[in-house]
Amino acid sequence: MTITERGNGHPPRYHTIGIGAGPSNLSLAALYKGVTTEKLALFDSRPVAGWHTPLLYPGVRMQTGWMKDLVSLVDPRHELTFLNYLVTSGRLYALINSQFDALPRIEYERYLAWATERLGVVNFDCRVDSISITDDGFEVCVDGTPVAQSEHLVLGLGTRPVWPEYVRGLDREQAFIADELGVRLPGLEASKAEPIAVVGGGQTGLECVLRLLGSGFTDIRWLGRNQWFRSIDDSPMANELYRPSHIQFLQGLNRGKRREMIVDSRYSGDAITPGGLRALYQGNYDGLLTLGRFPVTLLPGRDVTSAEQLADGNIRLRCTTPEMPEEHEVRHLVVAAGREHVQAPFDDDLRERIDYDDDGEMLVEPDYSIRWKGMNGHRIFSFNASRYSHGLTNAGLTQLPVRAAIVLNSMFDREIYPISDELCAVKW
Ligand SMILES: Cc1cc2nc3c(=O)[nH]c(=O)nc-3n(C[C@H](O)[C@H](O)[C@H](O)COP(=O)(O)OP(=O)(O)OC[C@H]3O[C@@H](n4cnc5c(N)ncnc54)[C@H](O)[C@@H]3O)c2cc1C
Repeated sequence: MTITERGNGHPPRYHTIGIGAGPSNLSLAALYKGVTTEKLALFDSRPVAGWHTPLLYPGVRMQTGWMKDLVSLVDPRHELTFLNYLVTSGRLYALINSQFDALPRIEYERYLAWATERLGVVNFDCRVDSISITDDGFEVCVDGTPVAQSEHLVLGLGTRPVWPEYVRGLDREQAFIADELGVRLPGLEASKAEPIAVVGGGQTGLECVLRLLGSGFTDIRWLGRNQWFRSIDDSPMANELYRPSHIQFLQGLNRGKRREMIVDSRYSGDAITPGGLRALYQGNYDGLLTLGRFPVTLLPGRDVTSAEQLADGNIRLRCTTPEMPEEHEVRHLVVAAGREHVQAPFDDDLRERIDYDDDGEMLVEPDYSIRWKGMNGHRIFSFNASRYSHGLTNAGLTQLPVRAAIVLNSMFDREIYPISDELCAVKW
């Protein structure tokens, strides 16, 4: 914690407080630094800088190109570009000559840590447990103690793994979420020949399967809900969905139509990298050559409905399939069932002033501000919480600086960063 008191018992006051110091709010802090001398502070519950750290290991790759860093899309001369990180850390030539198609995810985390240190605005080890309104803005508390006040608030709370209902009655030693696989692996040394299930047909599910395969497991069952394990559509046309002009187009549609289009385009982002699937198929083929059978069984079209802890210590999974219901008995279960948005810790008074839509989601305006019954121009902005108003770029890294620039233009009520995306062959 780097918080200091303002004196007379009041917590320090800032122009803007950001809750969460993931890529969304780091991008905001980076651009903020260049446009105002006002003070900004970020609060994060992590002990140190990190980015999905439990899911990082050698070999996992980014799904986004290196130019999609914290700043380049709106300010390529900013000191916190990824390129400047490579130059100042001495890695430029080593990285170029490694000829990666996609960057190692660990490298992106290192870049974020480098940028975090240079920004010097993050208070770690600070889980904000309440946000309330005061006579002149907001107050945030950590462990029940007020730690800061501000004019404006920016939420960058990110997501957390989903724990499906059926896992809850199982032995936690045997059934765990993907984020725990790394720490569990040493304890599974003696179980490598026993059946282990990975539930979840997305990128995280695939990465768990690859990790188990690479660690020598020989009976891995990979279950996913969709008809097949889909790879991302990374075609030029699919990438048109990740441009400011498309987000702008979506804003002009009515809610129902917009939702329909966003659902229809989800596999341009919510899917598996083709290189990952190839690695799985090749690893599985190598396994066939040594074992005489495939170590990984792919089970698409399975929707797990329940799980039972058996007397012999195994777990029985029941699932629906396009034909008959099916059962699988496994020794261990890894759950990679997606992620859900982290809710803001508003106190009751503030929560009642927020406008929610029919699905119970906060209403987020095109400039990422939340609609609320506020006082005197104090604004609340939110990243990563408006999939059905801002589309697929809402959660990803592809438009980070553009989103941050839109927030800053709105917060300071002038066009600090022009957002221009006119050279587009597509007429939506
Ligand atoms: C494993 C993985 C890989 C991904 N790879 C890509 C990719 O390659 N390309 C892409 O476009 N997208 C990717 N994504 C999706 C998305 O871009 C990332 O999740 C990204 O980190 C979102 O940034 P964020 O800042 O909004 O949220 P997060 O990175 O989740 O950061 C939120 C932060 O808020 C903090 N926090 C939450 N609640 C509180 C609280 N009450 N008080 C204080 N702090 C709090 C958390 O500790 C966390 O540090 C990936 C997602 C995952 C899970």
